[in-house]
Amino acid sequence: MFQEWKNYGLASIAIGGGEPLIHPRIVEIVKLGRDMGYFMAVTTNGTILKPIEANRVHISYDELHSTWKNEDFLQNAIDFYKKQKCIVGINHIVSNLKNIEYIQKTFENFDNFLLIREKPVSQFKDWDKIQYLNYFWIEGCIEGSHCEQGILSFHLDYELKASICSNFKEKIPYTTLIETWNKLKLFNCEIRDSKAPKIF
Ligand code: SF4
Repeated sequence: MFQEWKNYGLASIAIGGGEPLIHPRIVEIVKLGRDMGYFMAVTTNGTILKPIEANRVHISYDELHSTWKNEDFLQNAIDFYKKQKCIVGINHIVSNLKNIEYIQKTFENFDNFLLIREKPVSQFKDWDKIQYLNYFWIEGCIEGSHCEQGILSFHLDYELKASICSNFKEKIPYTTLIETWNKLKLFNCEIRDSKAPKIF
């Protein structure tokens, strides 16, 4: 598939989970992608540190993960992947403004801070109260943000079923890049395609 995608000029591959670093050949998989010229991104919970040569590593850190408030753990994971010369980000499922401030004040040496909406229902309503900073990334699923998933990217699971994004329930079997993507472009997402006023 990496070869097929390259023929069509696909630029980047993001590997998520579950926890992708438990895969015994993850280091090789990421290296293969890098060697073929892809931008390789990996999302991890940070509990396994492996010398992956990813361009970017994002570490999940929020109240839904058992690592929450284990500050040494998160800083250690950030520093480890910075030493591997990765761009390092924190993925955070937002529940309140205080937690966003806590992360900003407590940790250093990271490049991006991705704010994610809790699924399927988020109690957090104060998106417009976040003081937006240039290293914030906002997940597309937040009503009124910009989402281009399903248009500029799509999601492929471990059973080779494709969907417009990892949040989207409806899936189709992967056949070829072009055929699969053309079908996915016909799907509608209520949030992405809504006319909600833009807040970011
Ligand atoms: S396509 Fe829809 S469900 Fe998927 S990330 Fe974008 S807004 Fe959310």
